[in-house]
Amino acid sequence: MNFLKKFYLVAPGPTPVPHEVLLEGANETIHHRTPQFINIMKEAMEGAKYLFQTTEGEVYAFVSSGTGAMEAAVQNLLSAGDKAIVVVAGKFGERWRDILKAFGINTIEIELEWGEAVRPEDIKKALEENPDAKAVFTTHSETSTGTVIDLERIARVVKDTDAVLVTDAVSSLLAEPLKMDEWGIDVVVSGSQKGVMLPPGLGFLAIRGEKAWKLVEQSTLPKYYFDLKAYKKKAPENPYTPAVNHIYMLKKAIDMIKEEGIENVWERHRVLGEATRKAVKALGFELLSKRPGNVVTAVKLPESIDGTKLTKIMRDKYGVTIAGGQAHLKGKIIRIAHLGYMGPFDTIAAFSSLELALKELGYKFELGASLKALQEYFAENLKG
Ligand SMILES: *Cc1c(COP(=O)(O)O)cnc(C)c1O
Repeated sequence: MNFLKKFYLVAPGPTPVPHEVLLEGANETIHHRTPQFINIMKEAMEGAKYLFQTTEGEVYAFVSSGTGAMEAAVQNLLSAGDKAIVVVAGKFGERWRDILKAFGINTIEIELEWGEAVRPEDIKKALEENPDAKAVFTTHSETSTGTVIDLERIARVVKDTDAVLVTDAVSSLLAEPLKMDEWGIDVVVSGSQKGVMLPPGLGFLAIRGEKAWKLVEQSTLPKYYFDLKAYKKKAPENPYTPAVNHIYMLKKAIDMIKEEGIENVWERHRVLGEATRKAVKALGFELLSKRPGNVVTAVKLPESIDGTKLTKIMRDKYGVTIAGGQAHLKGKIIRIAHLGYMGPFDTIAAFSSLELALKELGYKFELGASLKALQEYFAENLKG
């Protein structure tokens, strides 16, 4: 039967964009040097500080994806031959390492199994062994494994040293609590297409404190488009053409996030994360992560199930897009997001289509088992 195809995005980026935000983006593109636009940009960038929970810091928006903001952090903080500590526990930790290496940085790698979370004491030890390290590069939410690190305690460790803490919060921003000022994080990078509820196209870099700005002043690595000094000088305007319509949308998304309240946004992600973990257990599956977070849930599949086939059936037959595994986990895990503009019924759609696809692939389970777990959890946790 050729059934109505409706699309559901339940992947850890891009995530669904609210209609209100898309409509805002449909407004006429105005010139970026007009007083009207500069005013909009000013409000958007002031508002963006709320997402990072900073009043002390500055937020800059690049016309790039999250990786651009990662590259900007490396280029602007470090100098040729510098030493930096980097945590590698998945695809995105590898990306930090690869960018650092591309710029000739001497990397001290804390390498962990995919699914493990770096501990504050691991960072402490690396800093004690490398007192000349200029920076510690971490991944708040390792999207390839669904793991979230204890950023607050890690920030406490790094704070009292000469090194700056840089964290990739591309997938965690708004999905996990992150308090830049209160926790004392120096640099946070993020992107538009995940928790911020925008289409892909903006990279964010938030920076605070003398320690970080001093490194920026001293930095000798080659840079041009991402040179923070140019952005600082021109703020709130961009030194180059900003993504005008994305800035309209950003402003709208921030209004929506403020209206919901950031604590409520974090809580919504926590509830969906917990519900998802219960539904996974109800199907008899295990989590990949040793410290699962509320951005995305990585699920280990039994040998008999080909994850690539599973996600393909879900997408092509039922219109539901989740993510598969990356690198050596390709085909072996699936990743179900609870990120950004998602609610209980996105999670239900994800598991309903997952069950249908599992059944088609011959997995033995009681049809509806995960849906029952979800309904029970929501009945208990969404009241009041
Ligand atoms: C999505 C993501 C990125 C950036 O990816 P882009 O495709 O460049 O936006 C970086 N780090 C993490 C943890 C991510 O989830």
